[in-house]
Amino acid sequence: MSPGACIFCEIVAGRIPARVAYQDEDVLAFHDINPQGPVHVLVIPKRHITSLLDLAPGDDATVGRLVRQATDLASSLGLSERGFRLVFNCGDDAGYSVYHIHLHLVGGRKLAWPPG
Ligand code: AMP
Ligand code: ZN
Repeated sequence: MSPGACIFCEIVAGRIPARVAYQDEDVLAFHDINPQGPVHVLVIPKRHITSLLDLAPGDDATVGRLVRQATDLASSLGLSERGFRLVFNCGDDAGYSVYHIHLHLVGGRKLAWPPG
């Protein structure tokens, strides 16, 4: 993907501002601009991966990191007792809108199931 074409790569590069919740060499977590709950954080790999359909066997550790980091954030944001949800969207039916994989961490309210 060419530089500037992906909004989340722009956030990683610091060219678009975000409210960062966590970052290290490989992972960035930031608060969703349109939160669906009292807590709504997006956890992304700093390296661009377009969608779940583009995951390769070499990405297994990256996906594991995202899940573990999101869970650590859930705990640090006080959600471990009452619960939370982690969601990867993929494709039109799921409403996938930013084509750089991101794990949604949503919590702080009762979440309906099945999702809408
Ligand atoms: P999805 O529907 O899974 O592709 O989710 C994309 C998410 O990115 C949505 O929840 C948006 O509100 C969120 N989003 C889009 N642009 C930004 C941004 N600049 N900063 C933070 N969150 C964003
Ligand atoms: Zn990207």
